[in-house]
Amino acid sequence: MNILSYMETHGHEQLAAWTDREAGLRAFIAVHDTTLGPALGGVRVWNHPTEEAALIDVLRLSRAMTYKSAAAGLHFGGGKGLILGDRSQKTEAMMRSFGRFVESLGGRYITTEDVGMTSQDLEWIAQSTRHVVGLPVSQGGSGDTSPMTGYGISMAMRACARARWGSDSLNGRTMAIQGFGSVARAMVKSIQAHGQEVSLVVTDINPAALEQAAALPGVRTVPPDQIYNTVCDIFAPCALGGVLNDDTIPRLKCAIVCGAANNQLLAPEHGDALQKRGILYAPDYIVNAGGVINVSCEVGATYSEQAAREKTARIYDTMQRVIATAKREGISTAQAADRLAEERLASVRKVRRVYMGRA
Ligand code: NAD
Repeated sequence: MNILSYMETHGHEQLAAWTDREAGLRAFIAVHDTTLGPALGGVRVWNHPTEEAALIDVLRLSRAMTYKSAAAGLHFGGGKGLILGDRSQKTEAMMRSFGRFVESLGGRYITTEDVGMTSQDLEWIAQSTRHVVGLPVSQGGSGDTSPMTGYGISMAMRACARARWGSDSLNGRTMAIQGFGSVARAMVKSIQAHGQEVSLVVTDINPAALEQAAALPGVRTVPPDQIYNTVCDIFAPCALGGVLNDDTIPRLKCAIVCGAANNQLLAPEHGDALQKRGILYAPDYIVNAGGVINVSCEVGATYSEQAAREKTARIYDTMQRVIATAKREGISTAQAADRLAEERLASVRKVRRVYMGRA
């Protein structure tokens, strides 16, 4: 694969690689776009089958962060970190080394937690860099991002419910959840906290997570591959990306797709495929912005949960805007979301060029 051509085509500014044999660390950081501010995005630990798969993943995830922050109205660009390996192999030395990697970029990239990471890992990273957010509350950070992400998804679901069924209510709806991790659990909690009773069908590749789900009242569990065939109102992908593709879209039996996972569409045309099937797709980066909104409230201000919650609640309005644009322009919701983000980026770039006398 020609990495530089890929980066040029997709507007990536920078890709950095880091190895530390003593600490056992192999990692990438991708800085996609810093038009709106420093690149903000979590670091993920994942055992990709090849280095190329890992590279593509980190580049795609960083680009999604640019769009996410832009559409959410934040003053940050998009970036992502990736530690290659299994989460069971993580050590303090590895995390401190990753912190040095972040520090070496001089603030162009601000890191936080993502799949496979814990707050303990972030604490270790913070020993080597200042450019880290989402630390535990006891360390002066905003803590776990999952509750705010879960809350934001529940707000997006309500906007989708209004568009599809004429009411914000999720009461009596059936939701099929792929991946019962921290965000999925927070999402369910947030929905239930609003007095909404939903029937849940859950799958997970981790037996412990599945057991945890099965212990909840009214939850049915299914094997991982059966989640796509589950008859439901809302399908919530809350595990990994690429799950909406040629194989899975024809099998879906839902009215709405709305979930936490980043980069859910395997390719852009899968947004059109969902539209053709009459399924309302809630673009992932609009829906799951609660986490980044939460940590962004730490930078340059004293963190306030109330302020973060108010900003996150606006995901409802953003989702409504996306649906309205898609309807008006006859495009998919995925395209409408991209348009929203790209218009903001273009307008700021234009002002910057004028300011620098290059218009
Ligand atoms: P997590 O690791 O706590 O949970 C993910 C769960 O998905 C795990 O239980 C895992 O076993 C399961 N899983 C993995 N592959 C699966 C598969 N093929 N089928 C079924 N289950 C599978 O992660 P999380 O923090 O809950 O994040 C979930 C998703 O949301 C990720 O894609 C993440 O990037 C995205 N996201 C998270 C946040 C956040 O605030 N944590 C914010 C935005 C987006």
